[in-house]
Amino acid sequence: MSRSVTGPEIERLVQLLAKLPGLGPRSARRAALHLVKKKDDLLAPLTSAMQVAVDSVVVCSTCGNIDTSDPCTICTDPRRDQSTIVVVEDVSDLWALERAGAINARYHVLGGALSPLDGVGPDDLAIDKLARRVAAGGVAEVILAVNATVEGQTTAHYIMDRLAGANVKVSRLAHGVPVGGELDYLDEGTLAAAIRQRTPF
Ligand SMILES: [Zn+2]
Repeated sequence: MSRSVTGPEIERLVQLLAKLPGLGPRSARRAALHLVKKKDDLLAPLTSAMQVAVDSVVVCSTCGNIDTSDPCTICTDPRRDQSTIVVVEDVSDLWALERAGAINARYHVLGGALSPLDGVGPDDLAIDKLARRVAAGGVAEVILAVNATVEGQTTAHYIMDRLAGANVKVSRLAHGVPVGGELDYLDEGTLAAAIRQRTPF
C-alpha cells in the first residue's frame, strides 16, 4: 500500500494535472511540485489566468472555434477571404493551420470525425451547420482539412456527398511526402498517395 506524502489539496492538484494531454501521473506529480514550489511566481498567476479563461472562453456559434468573443476573431476579420471555408476536425487543427500561416480563410470546426465503432455519427458533428453555412451563399470553396486517418477520410467523403448538390467547389488536402522527408523512411501508403497525387513540375 502506498502512503500519501501530501495533503488532499495537493493530491487533487496532481489528479487534475494528470488529466492533461501528454501528462501521466509521474509528470503530473512533478508539475504539481514545481507549481507549489513557485507559488507566487507561477501558481498564483496561472490560477488567475485560468479564472479569466473560465470566465471569458466561448465557442463561436458560426464556426466552432474557441475564443473570447462570439462570433470569433477569425469570423469577424474582414481581411479574410469570406468565400473559402476550411473544414477541420478540431480547434487544435485550426490553430496548427493558423501557425503555418498557410491560408487566409475562415474555418469550420466539426468537433471530431465520423467513427461508427465509437458511436460517432453525422449528428454528433457540426456537418448540418456546415451545409447551412454553404447554403446561405457566398461560399465558393470548401477545403476539407481533415486528418489522413480512416475516420478523417470517411468524414471527408460524407461531407463531399452532403455538399454534392450545392454550387461549391470541394477540395481536400494533398497526401504525400512531408517537407524535409526522405522517401526511404515513408510508409507505403504515404508513398503510394504521393505518386498518385503527383503534380506537374
Ligand atoms: Zn468563428
